[in-house]
Amino acid sequence: MKILKGIAVSPGVAVSPAIVLDSEELVISRRIIAPAEVEAEVARLHAAVEKSVQELTDLREKVSQTVGEQLGAIFDVHQSILNSAPLREEILNLISHEHYGPEYAVSTVLRGYGKKFLAMKDEYLADRVQDVHDIERRVLRHLIGERRQQLVNLQSPHILVAHDLTPSQTASLDRSKILGFATDVGGRTSHTAIVARAMNIPAIVGLETMTAEISGGDQVLIDGDRGLAIINPDAETLEKYRLYVQEAKRTEVDLTSLRDLPAITRDGHEITLYGNIEFPNEVTACLEHGAAGIGLYRTEFLYLDRDEEPTEEDHYEAYASALELLQGRPMTIRTCDLGADKFTHVTGEALERNPFLGLRSIRYSLRHVDVFKTQLRAILRASVLGSVQILFPLVTNVRELRHAKMILNDVREDLAEEGVAFDKNIKVGVMIEVPSAAFMPRQFARECDFFSIGTNDLVQYTLAVDRLNERVADMFTPAHPAVIGLMANVVNAAKAEHIEVAVCGEMGGDPLYTLLLVGLGVDVISTAPTAIPEVKRMIRSTSMRQARRVAKKILTLESDREILAYLTEVSRTILSEAFGPEEEEEER
Ligand code: PEP
Ligand code: MG
Repeated sequence: MKILKGIAVSPGVAVSPAIVLDSEELVISRRIIAPAEVEAEVARLHAAVEKSVQELTDLREKVSQTVGEQLGAIFDVHQSILNSAPLREEILNLISHEHYGPEYAVSTVLRGYGKKFLAMKDEYLADRVQDVHDIERRVLRHLIGERRQQLVNLQSPHILVAHDLTPSQTASLDRSKILGFATDVGGRTSHTAIVARAMNIPAIVGLETMTAEISGGDQVLIDGDRGLAIINPDAETLEKYRLYVQEAKRTEVDLTSLRDLPAITRDGHEITLYGNIEFPNEVTACLEHGAAGIGLYRTEFLYLDRDEEPTEEDHYEAYASALELLQGRPMTIRTCDLGADKFTHVTGEALERNPFLGLRSIRYSLRHVDVFKTQLRAILRASVLGSVQILFPLVTNVRELRHAKMILNDVREDLAEEGVAFDKNIKVGVMIEVPSAAFMPRQFARECDFFSIGTNDLVQYTLAVDRLNERVADMFTPAHPAVIGLMANVVNAAKAEHIEVAVCGEMGGDPLYTLLLVGLGVDVISTAPTAIPEVKRMIRSTSMRQARRVAKKILTLESDREILAYLTEVSRTILSEAFGPEEEEEER
């Protein structure tokens, strides 16, 4: 039994055999295979090499015909390297005798050859390193592609272990076959983590060496509450977790009894609790957990699970189906937030050095006006089917907001001319998730109908801490006084300009921050559905007076540690006063 500690991103416990997915990226993990797996892994290697050789033959023919015989001959070089007997033997040796996975074996041997070429004095030979790199990528693509295929055709439940998973890979996991996942890299507010919570799939990220420590088929237990991955757990551990899961189910039932009660403080102040979604069918889970509507629909996921750009009809159908499930309850549709860790086949082609600071989100939409207009048309058309608001993400300056509104107006005019119905009073909101906007919120408040604070990005950009990077995950905290100070500034500006202010980042789903958010004056909290009952319980346990006192005190504290310690203590006291000492015990 081996226990690894990572970052807990989606709660729950799951146990199953592991399926390990290597990445095509630069890091190929040093995965060890069980002796019984050697034969199958060697067969996988042979199949991948054969496919690569065939591909090279085809390419040679095509290039010779279209560009010329001389260039086609490049692929002969690749073939001869790949067919070289010593090279193949070295790879086989690493699999059969050292028991390394074929991905690692191929990568190690070919990189070794690359280094030898690089060390050669002859310039022509030194340049061959690129060819060797190309061959490595080709074979790996086949090996990994086949593993992905296996993932689609799984016959029995597994825990997925991967170096990394993109948000779209995560969204396409078959929930009935993948019971949980664990990755080497990642952070708590990555979109992969957000999707895992939305899918209710226990998950841990940032385990660093997980893919290297595990062999396919090993039994693995994922403890998504504490961030523990236990490889080959013993009987005692399994029994301990069986009891733990039983107990967790009991408290979950208690919390669902809150579903139909309002999120109202003891002195009668109501907070609106909404759910966040990535796909229309998640509306059901939000309603089941007591959401009064949808406060954040991350529409970019519509782009992530397909090869083609979604059409106006694709958009419209998605919005219409969510609105149908909502039966008149409100929904805030955020325009596409592509870029950074969410890229499509089209946007993913132009790699950026700092994608979180690049052509992301509203910047992308304003550069691709046709794509933007397609979405806006669909949102406006859907606006007559229920109660819809529009939200623009990552707005950095007022000019961007004006530009986006101008395009929206063009779309309104087009629809009016065509005689298409839409809600003429549709509200337009701005996400406050960049420090520049949080610093001067009044200018924005005068030109929009509501704010939604995106704490995930606001924390990332204010503290200069990558939300995806496990190495700095301990520095990623909304409790930093600078973040809270900016949030207070935003709420005050919203109040002064009489507009509504919501929080839709992950901070809103952590009951530890509920008192603070309520006390600051936040009107709406929108979060993952599973987090709603706990947040509601906290709201119902406090009074507005008490929450304001807490917020005021926090604004005087000077470090995240002090703030967290104070919030932990005061939240515990409030819950124990509301529910008695037994509850206090549970909170611990
Ligand atoms: C945020 O940044 O807090 C937010 C809600 O948006 P996303 O997580 O999709 O970037
Ligand atoms: Mg964001």
